Amino acid sequence: MLPVRGTTALPTHTWRNWGGTAGCTPNRVMGPSSAAEIADIVRDAAARGGTVKTVGAGHSFSPIAVADDVQLDLSRLRGLVQVDGHRVTLRAGTHLYEIPGLLAPFGLAMTNLGDVDRQTIAGATSTGTHGTGLAFGGISTQIVGATVVTGTGDIVTLTSDDADLRAVALGLGALGVVAELTVECVDEFRLHAVEGPETADAAIAAFGERVENSDHHEFYLFPHTNCALVKTNTRVGTDVPVNGPSRIKRYIDDELLSNKALRLLCEVGARVPRLVPAINGVTGRALSAREFTDSSTGVFVSDRDVRFREMEYAIDLDAVPEALREIRALLDRREYLVSFPIEVRAAAADDLMLSTASGRTSGYIAVHRYHRDDPADSDAYFADVEAILTGFGGRPHWGKMHTRDAEYLRGVYPRFDEFRSVRDRYDPSRVFANDYLRRVLGD
Ligand SMILES: Cc1cc2nc3c(=O)[nH]c(=O)nc-3n(C[C@H](O)[C@H](O)[C@H](O)COP(=O)(O)OP(=O)(O)OC[C@H]3O[C@@H](n4cnc5c(N)ncnc54)[C@H](O)[C@@H]3O)c2cc1C
Repeated sequence: MLPVRGTTALPTHTWRNWGGTAGCTPNRVMGPSSAAEIADIVRDAAARGGTVKTVGAGHSFSPIAVADDVQLDLSRLRGLVQVDGHRVTLRAGTHLYEIPGLLAPFGLAMTNLGDVDRQTIAGATSTGTHGTGLAFGGISTQIVGATVVTGTGDIVTLTSDDADLRAVALGLGALGVVAELTVECVDEFRLHAVEGPETADAAIAAFGERVENSDHHEFYLFPHTNCALVKTNTRVGTDVPVNGPSRIKRYIDDELLSNKALRLLCEVGARVPRLVPAINGVTGRALSAREFTDSSTGVFVSDRDVRFREMEYAIDLDAVPEALREIRALLDRREYLVSFPIEVRAAAADDLMLSTASGRTSGYIAVHRYHRDDPADSDAYFADVEAILTGFGGRPHWGKMHTRDAEYLRGVYPRFDEFRSVRDRYDPSRVFANDYLRRVLGD
């Protein structure tokens, strides 16, 4: 038994991530409810040469959350700690879907979000989760304070004046266990959403200008077709009425037309791959335009019922059209038959050491495969797209599939060795290591 006060040992289990791409059977699962309890667990593991890995919602596709020894489940460490003006301190295990309800009484909202809200705040920020919008960075850029338990069991509190926050805010789980995060929020706002079909050629050509001139712009390309779905969201005040199809109607549309229909089409495509181009053509032509205004989270976040695997790279924003031309040429050669759309987004440059947008205004290109597609074929597709995107100095999303190692990553992250030296101070004996971190950080 662990000599850990007050900590609940949870039943051990076999863990798998959402995408089914990584799993493990930890030796122990612990459910601490305070930074002091986390510190006890970390000190115990360090003393016996073990390791500790926190798991959030398991929504990373890469094996970044795999625990070899002790797995920490922070579901007892959730909720609001305090609100000070726009600065909101949250316990690390709080899920993104819990945050709007916690912020509503204060009239606040998160500045920007990705596509889904199942992740925990610490899991999302540890891997650099981002949405789209050239005036906005990823969620980690909203962090202005953190409490973290280091590999020596020390509890360290950081503010935005501490240079180390530039590492801890997007720390890959390599620097410590984050117990609390303070996030700079904004006044509650609504989004006016305009979505509709367009040719892929037009969506690609207009991307640079549209991200420059709108708040949040993204598009999806349907492989083997000239079809795209384009989405542009404009930030408006809470005085602008909610309108357009109701959230329930949109949910039903998304459920029936996106999730259920997509699953059916993906199943057909997985069984009879040669039908994929025709299916994508029909889907692309069936897309219709819609326009609505809703709360920021009501627009940013969608349901993702159909399981998939994903790889995403950040490249220089200006290189996006050329990179997409190469990926489309690869798809036109029909070496792969891909049912899932390619997602294209953008983000502002930031100053976080390991942010995919560190020091660079970035475009993001994400490729997906249905989870039942032949894994060897999916891996080969990702490898070929990865070869294209690394040719543009691409930086892989830390929570998505990729094959890069420390040697490559040092070349594309100017602050890579600075991060490694923070790690040497925070986790000198590598209590938080796993195979993924050894690969991407070099030890
Ligand atoms: C359906 C789906 C949609 C997605 N959409 C987007 C998107 O729009 N944009 C985007 O950028 N990404 C997206 N992602 C990727 C996802 O946001 C990230 O992989 C994120 O890390 C998942 O958060 P999580 O809570 O599941 O963390 P996990 O995957 O469980 O863990 C991720 C990492 O965080 C570490 N960690 C977790 N909690 C702590 C803690 N308290 N202290 C220290 N380290 C910790 C873990 O050890 C691990 O290293 C999506 C993923 C899926 C499956």
